[in-house]
Amino acid sequence: MTQRATYQDLSHGITVMDAEYISSDIAALYIVEQDGEVAIIETGTNHSIPYLLNALEAKHLNFDNVRYIIPTHVHLDHAGGAGELMSLCDNAELVIHPFGAAHMIDPSKLIAGASAVYGEDKFKALYGEIKAIDKNRVIQAPDGFKLSMNGREFEFLDTPGHARHHFCIYDKKSNGLFSGDTFGLSYPQLTTDVGRFIFATTTPVQFDPEALLSSIDKIMKKNPEKIYLTHFSEISPTPDIIKQLTDSVKQFKQIALNAIDITEDRIELINQNIQQYLLLKLSEMGCHQSPEFQQGVIKFDSLLNAQGLDFWLKKYHDK
Ligand SMILES: [Zn+2]
Repeated sequence: MTQRATYQDLSHGITVMDAEYISSDIAALYIVEQDGEVAIIETGTNHSIPYLLNALEAKHLNFDNVRYIIPTHVHLDHAGGAGELMSLCDNAELVIHPFGAAHMIDPSKLIAGASAVYGEDKFKALYGEIKAIDKNRVIQAPDGFKLSMNGREFEFLDTPGHARHHFCIYDKKSNGLFSGDTFGLSYPQLTTDVGRFIFATTTPVQFDPEALLSSIDKIMKKNPEKIYLTHFSEISPTPDIIKQLTDSVKQFKQIALNAIDITEDRIELINQNIQQYLLLKLSEMGCHQSPEFQQGVIKFDSLLNAQGLDFWLKKYHDK
Protein backbone atom coordinates (compact mmCIF):
# COMPACT_ATOMS: atom_id res chain seq x y z
CA MET A 1 0.00 0.00 0.00
CA THR A 2 1.21 3.45 -0.90
CA GLN A 3 2.51 5.77 1.83
CA ARG A 4 1.22 8.85 0.03
CA ALA A 5 -1.72 10.58 1.72
CA THR A 6 -4.71 9.41 -0.26
CA TYR A 7 -7.18 11.93 1.07
CA GLN A 8 -7.53 15.65 1.57
CA ASP A 9 -9.93 17.55 3.81
CA LEU A 10 -11.97 20.21 2.05
CA SER A 11 -14.42 22.42 3.95
CA HIS A 12 -17.78 21.67 5.63
CA GLY A 13 -16.81 18.17 6.79
CA ILE A 14 -16.11 17.00 3.25
CA THR A 15 -13.05 14.92 2.46
CA VAL A 16 -11.96 13.91 -1.03
CA MET A 17 -10.21 10.56 -1.23
CA ASP A 18 -8.32 8.94 -4.07
CA ALA A 19 -10.12 5.70 -4.98
CA GLU A 20 -6.83 4.42 -6.48
CA TYR A 21 -8.78 3.21 -9.49
CA ILE A 22 -6.23 1.97 -12.08
CA SER A 23 -3.75 4.49 -10.67
CA SER A 24 -3.71 7.63 -8.55
CA ASP A 25 -5.56 10.83 -9.49
CA ILE A 26 -8.16 9.18 -11.73
CA ALA A 27 -11.24 8.60 -9.57
CA ALA A 28 -12.31 10.09 -6.26
CA LEU A 29 -14.79 9.27 -3.58
CA TYR A 30 -16.07 11.64 -0.94
CA ILE A 31 -16.55 11.27 2.80
CA VAL A 32 -19.14 13.68 4.21
CA GLU A 33 -19.29 13.81 8.00
CA GLN A 34 -22.00 15.38 10.09
CA ASP A 35 -21.82 15.00 13.88
CA GLY A 36 -20.54 11.44 13.81
CA GLU A 37 -22.62 10.23 10.88
CA VAL A 38 -20.99 9.66 7.53
CA ALA A 39 -22.16 9.58 3.92
CA ILE A 40 -19.82 8.01 1.38
CA ILE A 41 -20.41 9.49 -2.07
CA GLU A 42 -19.09 7.13 -4.77
CA THR A 43 -17.44 3.94 -3.61
CA GLY A 44 -14.60 3.38 -6.04
CA THR A 45 -13.99 -0.35 -6.36
CA ASN A 46 -13.40 -3.11 -3.82
CA HIS A 47 -9.71 -2.12 -3.95
CA SER A 48 -10.59 1.37 -2.64
CA ILE A 49 -12.03 0.04 0.62
CA PRO A 50 -8.76 -0.32 2.63
CA TYR A 51 -7.90 3.30 1.78
CA LEU A 52 -11.35 4.36 2.90
CA LEU A 53 -10.95 2.58 6.22
CA ASN A 54 -7.59 4.32 6.75
CA ALA A 55 -9.13 7.71 6.05
CA LEU A 56 -12.08 7.06 8.39
CA GLU A 57 -9.80 5.85 11.17
CA ALA A 58 -7.62 8.94 10.83
CA LYS A 59 -10.80 10.90 11.64
CA HIS A 60 -11.62 8.63 14.59
CA LEU A 61 -14.48 7.11 12.62
CA ASN A 62 -15.10 3.60 11.35
CA PHE A 63 -17.54 1.65 9.18
CA ASP A 64 -20.19 1.75 11.96
CA ASN A 65 -20.46 5.52 11.51
CA VAL A 66 -21.42 5.14 7.86
CA ARG A 67 -25.11 5.97 7.44
CA TYR A 68 -25.43 6.34 3.66
CA ILE A 69 -23.51 4.96 0.69
CA ILE A 70 -24.36 6.99 -2.40
CA PRO A 71 -22.97 6.14 -5.85
CA THR A 72 -24.03 8.80 -8.40
CA HIS A 73 -24.61 6.05 -10.98
CA VAL A 74 -23.86 2.36 -11.37
CA HIS A 75 -20.74 2.52 -13.58
CA LEU A 76 -18.15 0.44 -11.77
CA ASP A 77 -15.60 3.17 -11.08
CA HIS A 78 -18.40 4.80 -9.05
CA ALA A 79 -20.35 1.85 -7.64
CA GLY A 80 -18.05 -1.18 -8.04
CA GLY A 81 -17.27 -1.32 -4.32
CA ALA A 82 -20.86 -0.72 -3.15
CA GLY A 83 -21.77 -4.35 -2.42
CA GLU A 84 -18.57 -5.07 -0.50
CA LEU A 85 -18.81 -1.79 1.40
CA MET A 86 -22.47 -2.40 2.33
CA SER A 87 -21.44 -5.79 3.73
CA LEU A 88 -18.93 -4.01 6.01
CA CYS A 89 -21.14 -1.09 7.07
CA ASP A 90 -23.98 -2.58 9.11
CA ASN A 91 -25.75 0.73 9.75
CA ALA A 92 -25.69 1.93 6.16
CA GLU A 93 -28.33 2.21 3.50
CA LEU A 94 -27.55 2.50 -0.19
CA VAL A 95 -29.04 5.49 -2.00
CA ILE A 96 -29.28 5.07 -5.75
CA HIS A 97 -31.12 6.36 -8.83
CA PRO A 98 -34.35 4.41 -9.45
CA PHE A 99 -32.98 3.21 -12.83
CA GLY A 100 -29.83 1.87 -11.17
CA ALA A 101 -31.36 0.10 -8.18
CA ALA A 102 -32.02 -3.23 -9.93
CA HIS A 103 -28.33 -3.45 -10.91
CA MET A 104 -27.19 -3.02 -7.32
CA ILE A 105 -29.65 -5.65 -6.04
CA ASP A 106 -28.70 -8.10 -8.80
CA PRO A 107 -25.36 -7.10 -10.35
CA SER A 108 -25.25 -9.95 -12.91
CA LYS A 109 -25.95 -7.66 -15.89
CA LEU A 110 -23.35 -5.13 -14.72
CA ILE A 111 -20.80 -7.89 -14.40
CA ALA A 112 -21.66 -9.33 -17.82
CA GLY A 113 -21.52 -5.87 -19.45
CA ALA A 114 -18.17 -4.90 -17.98
CA SER A 115 -16.67 -8.36 -18.56
CA ALA A 116 -17.62 -8.02 -22.24
CA VAL A 117 -15.79 -4.66 -22.42
CA TYR A 118 -12.67 -5.60 -20.45
CA GLY A 119 -12.46 -9.39 -20.77
CA GLU A 120 -12.90 -11.76 -17.83
CA ASP A 121 -9.34 -11.50 -16.42
CA LYS A 122 -9.00 -7.72 -16.63
CA PHE A 123 -12.48 -7.35 -15.14
CA LYS A 124 -11.51 -9.51 -12.14
CA ALA A 125 -8.27 -7.56 -11.65
CA LEU A 126 -9.99 -4.17 -11.86
CA TYR A 127 -13.10 -4.89 -9.80
CA GLY A 128 -12.86 -8.23 -8.01
CA GLU A 129 -16.15 -9.74 -6.90
CA ILE A 130 -19.22 -7.53 -7.24
CA LYS A 131 -21.58 -8.32 -4.37
CA ALA A 132 -25.37 -8.10 -4.46
CA ILE A 133 -27.11 -5.72 -2.02
CA ASP A 134 -30.20 -6.65 0.00
CA LYS A 135 -33.14 -4.76 -1.51
CA ASN A 136 -34.39 -3.83 1.98
CA ARG A 137 -31.28 -1.70 2.41
CA VAL A 138 -31.71 0.21 -0.84
CA ILE A 139 -33.30 3.68 -1.01
CA GLN A 140 -34.34 4.85 -4.48
CA ALA A 141 -33.90 8.59 -4.94
CA PRO A 142 -35.99 10.12 -7.73
CA ASP A 143 -35.66 13.74 -8.89
CA GLY A 144 -36.19 16.17 -6.00
CA PHE A 145 -35.76 13.48 -3.31
CA LYS A 146 -34.37 14.84 -0.04
CA LEU A 147 -32.42 13.04 2.62
CA SER A 148 -31.36 14.32 6.00
CA MET A 149 -28.26 13.16 7.89
CA ASN A 150 -28.21 14.60 11.39
CA GLY A 151 -30.06 17.59 9.98
CA ARG A 152 -27.77 18.01 6.97
CA GLU A 153 -29.88 18.04 3.84
CA PHE A 154 -28.99 16.34 0.58
CA GLU A 155 -31.17 16.92 -2.47
CA PHE A 156 -31.06 14.55 -5.43
CA LEU A 157 -31.28 15.83 -9.00
CA ASP A 158 -32.04 13.50 -11.88
CA THR A 159 -29.26 14.30 -14.36
CA PRO A 160 -29.30 12.08 -17.47
CA GLY A 161 -26.86 12.60 -20.36
CA HIS A 162 -23.81 10.63 -19.25
CA ALA A 163 -26.12 7.81 -18.14
CA ARG A 164 -29.88 7.59 -17.58
CA HIS A 165 -29.31 6.15 -14.09
CA HIS A 166 -27.33 9.19 -12.94
CA PHE A 167 -28.23 11.65 -10.21
CA CYS A 168 -26.28 14.52 -8.70
CA ILE A 169 -26.38 15.38 -5.01
CA TYR A 170 -26.81 18.95 -3.86
CA ASP A 171 -25.43 19.55 -0.36
CA LYS A 172 -27.11 22.59 1.14
CA LYS A 173 -24.55 23.03 3.93
CA SER A 174 -21.57 23.51 1.62
CA ASN A 175 -23.65 24.90 -1.26
CA GLY A 176 -21.78 22.26 -3.19
CA LEU A 177 -22.86 19.63 -5.65
CA PHE A 178 -21.50 16.12 -6.12
CA SER A 179 -21.63 15.73 -9.87
CA GLY A 180 -20.43 12.18 -10.60
CA ASP A 181 -19.74 12.29 -14.36
CA THR A 182 -22.45 14.78 -15.37
CA PHE A 183 -20.21 17.84 -14.98
CA GLY A 184 -17.32 16.30 -16.92
CA LEU A 185 -13.72 15.50 -16.09
CA SER A 186 -11.00 17.86 -14.90
CA TYR A 187 -7.66 16.44 -13.89
CA PRO A 188 -5.67 18.82 -11.67
CA GLN A 189 -2.38 17.79 -13.36
CA LEU A 190 -3.60 19.61 -16.46
CA THR A 191 -4.31 22.92 -14.70
CA THR A 192 -3.03 25.82 -16.80
CA ASP A 193 -2.14 29.48 -16.26
CA VAL A 194 -5.75 30.42 -17.00
CA GLY A 195 -7.22 27.78 -14.72
CA ARG A 196 -8.64 24.28 -14.76
CA PHE A 197 -9.14 22.32 -17.97
CA ILE A 198 -12.44 20.44 -18.22
CA PHE A 199 -14.25 18.31 -20.80
CA ALA A 200 -17.31 16.10 -21.02
CA THR A 201 -17.38 12.33 -20.68
CA THR A 202 -19.42 10.45 -23.30
CA THR A 203 -18.81 6.88 -22.10
CA PRO A 204 -20.96 4.02 -23.54
CA VAL A 205 -23.82 3.15 -23.57
CA GLN A 206 -26.30 5.91 -22.74
CA PHE A 207 -24.61 9.14 -23.81
CA ASP A 208 -27.19 11.72 -24.91
CA PRO A 209 -25.78 15.18 -25.76
CA GLU A 210 -29.05 17.15 -25.43
CA ALA A 211 -29.88 15.53 -22.09
CA LEU A 212 -26.35 16.23 -20.87
CA LEU A 213 -26.56 19.93 -21.77
CA SER A 214 -29.94 20.19 -19.99
CA SER A 215 -28.50 18.47 -16.93
CA ILE A 216 -25.57 20.91 -16.81
CA ASP A 217 -28.14 23.74 -16.95
CA LYS A 218 -30.15 22.12 -14.19
CA ILE A 219 -27.04 21.85 -11.99
CA MET A 220 -26.24 25.54 -12.50
CA LYS A 221 -29.79 26.55 -11.53
CA LYS A 222 -28.86 25.48 -7.98
CA ASN A 223 -26.11 28.11 -8.06
CA PRO A 224 -23.53 25.86 -6.43
CA GLU A 225 -20.36 27.46 -5.18
CA LYS A 226 -18.37 24.26 -5.62
CA ILE A 227 -18.76 21.23 -7.82
CA TYR A 228 -17.28 18.02 -6.43
CA LEU A 229 -16.12 16.02 -9.44
CA THR A 230 -15.47 12.30 -9.22
CA HIS A 231 -12.72 12.80 -11.80
CA PHE A 232 -11.24 14.75 -9.96
CA SER A 233 -11.91 16.80 -6.80
CA GLU A 234 -13.51 20.20 -6.30
CA ILE A 235 -13.84 22.91 -8.90
CA SER A 236 -15.49 26.35 -9.01
CA PRO A 237 -18.10 26.47 -11.78
CA THR A 238 -17.05 29.79 -13.31
CA PRO A 239 -18.53 30.95 -16.64
CA ASP A 240 -15.29 29.88 -18.34
CA ILE A 241 -15.52 26.36 -16.90
CA ILE A 242 -19.15 26.02 -17.99
CA LYS A 243 -18.27 27.22 -21.48
CA GLN A 244 -15.36 24.77 -21.78
CA LEU A 245 -17.65 21.96 -20.66
CA THR A 246 -20.64 22.73 -22.89
CA ASP A 247 -18.38 23.48 -25.87
CA SER A 248 -16.83 20.03 -25.45
CA VAL A 249 -20.25 18.33 -25.47
CA LYS A 250 -21.15 20.10 -28.72
CA GLN A 251 -17.73 19.48 -30.24
CA PHE A 252 -17.72 15.75 -29.40
CA LYS A 253 -21.19 15.40 -30.89
CA GLN A 254 -19.98 17.13 -34.07
CA ILE A 255 -16.85 14.95 -34.27
CA ALA A 256 -19.15 11.92 -34.12
CA LEU A 257 -21.56 13.26 -36.73
CA ASN A 258 -18.63 14.04 -39.05
CA ALA A 259 -17.70 10.35 -38.89
CA ILE A 260 -21.21 9.10 -39.59
CA ASP A 261 -20.39 7.59 -42.99
CA ILE A 262 -17.12 5.99 -41.93
CA THR A 263 -17.48 2.23 -41.91
CA GLU A 264 -13.97 1.13 -40.96
CA ASP A 265 -12.06 2.02 -37.78
CA ARG A 266 -14.63 4.66 -36.88
CA ILE A 267 -13.81 4.54 -33.16
CA GLU A 268 -10.14 5.18 -33.89
CA LEU A 269 -10.94 8.14 -36.15
CA ILE A 270 -13.22 9.68 -33.51
CA ASN A 271 -10.57 9.02 -30.86
CA GLN A 272 -7.90 10.82 -32.94
CA ASN A 273 -10.16 13.81 -33.47
CA ILE A 274 -11.07 14.05 -29.79
CA GLN A 275 -7.39 13.96 -28.82
CA GLN A 276 -6.59 16.61 -31.39
CA TYR A 277 -9.37 18.84 -30.05
CA LEU A 278 -8.32 18.42 -26.41
CA LEU A 279 -4.62 18.99 -27.14
CA LEU A 280 -5.47 22.13 -29.13
CA LYS A 281 -7.55 23.49 -26.22
CA LEU A 282 -4.73 22.71 -23.79
CA SER A 283 -2.24 24.53 -25.96
CA GLU A 284 -4.60 27.54 -26.28
CA MET A 285 -4.81 27.61 -22.48
CA GLY A 286 -1.02 27.51 -22.16
CA CYS A 287 -0.63 24.12 -20.48
CA HIS A 288 3.00 23.74 -19.38
CA GLN A 289 3.08 19.94 -19.39
CA SER A 290 4.79 18.17 -22.28
CA PRO A 291 2.55 16.97 -25.13
CA GLU A 292 3.40 13.37 -24.15
CA PHE A 293 2.25 13.98 -20.59
CA GLN A 294 -0.96 15.68 -21.76
CA GLN A 295 -1.70 12.83 -24.10
CA GLY A 296 -0.99 10.31 -21.35
CA VAL A 297 -3.62 11.94 -19.13
CA ILE A 298 -6.36 12.25 -21.77
CA LYS A 299 -5.92 9.09 -23.83
CA PHE A 300 -7.95 6.77 -21.59
CA ASP A 301 -10.99 9.05 -21.55
CA SER A 302 -10.58 9.97 -25.19
CA LEU A 303 -10.92 6.31 -26.17
CA LEU A 304 -13.88 5.76 -23.83
CA ASN A 305 -15.51 8.88 -25.27
CA ALA A 306 -14.93 7.63 -28.81
CA GLN A 307 -16.51 4.29 -27.92
CA GLY A 308 -19.52 6.07 -26.41
CA LEU A 309 -19.93 8.37 -29.42
CA ASP A 310 -19.69 5.42 -31.82
CA PHE A 311 -22.38 3.67 -29.79
CA TRP A 312 -24.53 6.81 -29.90
CA LEU A 313 -24.17 6.97 -33.69
CA LYS A 314 -25.16 3.31 -33.99
CA LYS A 315 -28.21 3.83 -31.80
CA TYR A 316 -29.60 7.04 -33.27
CA HIS A 317 -28.00 7.76 -36.61
CA ASP A 318 -26.76 4.67 -38.43
CA LYS A 319 -29.18 3.22 -40.94
ZN1 LIG B 1 -16.71 7.80 -14.01
